[in-house]
Amino acid sequence: AANSVVEPLVGAVDQGTSSTRFLVFNSKTAEVISHHQVEVKLQYPKEGWVEQDPEEILRSVCECIEKTCEKLGQLNVDVSRIKALGVTNQRETTVVWDKVTGEPLSNALVWLDLRTQSTVEALSKEIPANNNFVKAKTGLPLSTYFSAVKLRWLLDNALRVQKAVEEKRALFGTVDSWLIWSLTGGVRGGVHCTDVTNASRTMIFNIHSLQWDPELCDFFGIPMDILPHVRSSSEIYGLVKTGPLEGVPLSGCLGDQSAALVGQMCFRDGQAKNTYGTGCFLLCNTGRKCVASEHGLLTTVAYKLGRDQPANYALEGSVAIAGAVVSWLRDNLGIIKEVGDIEKLARDAGTSYDCYFVPAFSGLYAPYWDPSARGIICGLTQFTNKCHLAFAALEAVCFQTREILDAMNRDCGIPLSHLQVDGGMTSNKVLMQLQADILCIPVVRPCMPETTALGAAMAAGAAEGVGVWRLEDRDADGVPTERFEPQINAEESRCRYATWKKAVMKSIGWVT
Ligand code: ADP
Repeated sequence: AANSVVEPLVGAVDQGTSSTRFLVFNSKTAEVISHHQVEVKLQYPKEGWVEQDPEEILRSVCECIEKTCEKLGQLNVDVSRIKALGVTNQRETTVVWDKVTGEPLSNALVWLDLRTQSTVEALSKEIPANNNFVKAKTGLPLSTYFSAVKLRWLLDNALRVQKAVEEKRALFGTVDSWLIWSLTGGVRGGVHCTDVTNASRTMIFNIHSLQWDPELCDFFGIPMDILPHVRSSSEIYGLVKTGPLEGVPLSGCLGDQSAALVGQMCFRDGQAKNTYGTGCFLLCNTGRKCVASEHGLLTTVAYKLGRDQPANYALEGSVAIAGAVVSWLRDNLGIIKEVGDIEKLARDAGTSYDCYFVPAFSGLYAPYWDPSARGIICGLTQFTNKCHLAFAALEAVCFQTREILDAMNRDCGIPLSHLQVDGGMTSNKVLMQLQADILCIPVVRPCMPETTALGAAMAAGAAEGVGVWRLEDRDADGVPTERFEPQINAEESRCRYATWKKAVMKSIGWVT
């Protein structure tokens, strides 16, 4: 009978830098039915080094899946209704593991890690000034940020990695590959693959041909037999082999920023979103065109939703430190207990009294790309207190966004009329209002904040052979949102932004 047809559900793993989540969406309205979240530890073994334990990442994913399925059981929802699984992940973070034992061969080098600074400097000397083939092929400036130099470092410095490469046991991947290989069977025959969006962040992937590039692999000294197969962002990669989702097709994979773009339904040329997580990433869909930036932005693959579909590209403004500055105030200075406490402090201050905080902890990314920049707090007086510092930290996130938005507007020619936002930090209303004030355009936040997971679920549910939904059927106009309108005048905003720029100049070139 018709009423016995049960609505299918779609699951999505969102493996971020700060935490892992698993969410289950219904297919009619894409509402979250159940979810679970677990924090993941960042390790700082030396100054500038940032690592994570790949086993801990995998455990956090399995725990989130198990707990969410338990919650579904309590809601009397049958887990077997989950018909597809998508994965979205922190990008660039580099993992090498042993395909025979399934063990990681070192900690993961996290995208924020700076240990490859000297490698980057040495390699830049080998790129002819009049023929930057790395930029031309990958859309990326040579930087500590991307996977190729991290992998190079592991090949040079991690004995276990070297040995496994020699013995043809080593597999390389970004976090998506590590998770997909593990979830689809691991040593018992896991699938070693990645999608085009994650591949486009490695610096050895040609974004025009959508293939690994032998010349780049040679340049970075990377053996091609350890690389994953590159697939589209929406197709069945394999079936889940363990846990409560056993047998479910794993059929969507997108880097977190691409997933947020899809989740916000920015499918048209010129549509953009800004995600505030550990870092902050503004992506603008440029359609089928690969647009090269003249203002310090990256060119990257936005998504390729199906094996036979063409790829869409995006311009990206990347900011290394956004939410991470709030975690730093909590963990390193102890002026807040929970990250959410910053909102009250900043509201109490209402201004920073001309105190400016440039959190260039990992150098500066877009639009400066200066690995030698370091964080500074300036404009301090006897009067400055922790509330002002909290305010300055939030303002820094907004100023950095203005810098990448300005660059985006210059590259695209048509200024954005409003900014679509998402990410963990956007629950902070003081931040949202400040952002509207500093940009002088409205900031629009979806009421359902988990757009990154939604994007991965959309890709998974729409895959050929799954067919839970069609992307065309999701209605972008029907998504409930909240708007923050600018409340200060443009001149005041311009003035503050000019002082911010002065502060940035002081942070640049700090490490010599
Ligand atoms: P990621 O995807 O990078 O793991 P999330 O989107 O989960 O990040 O956001 C987590 C980040 O947002 C953390 O760095 C945290 O400090 C910050 N954050 C979370 N809630 C708030 C808040 N209410 N105010 C300010 N920052 C916050």
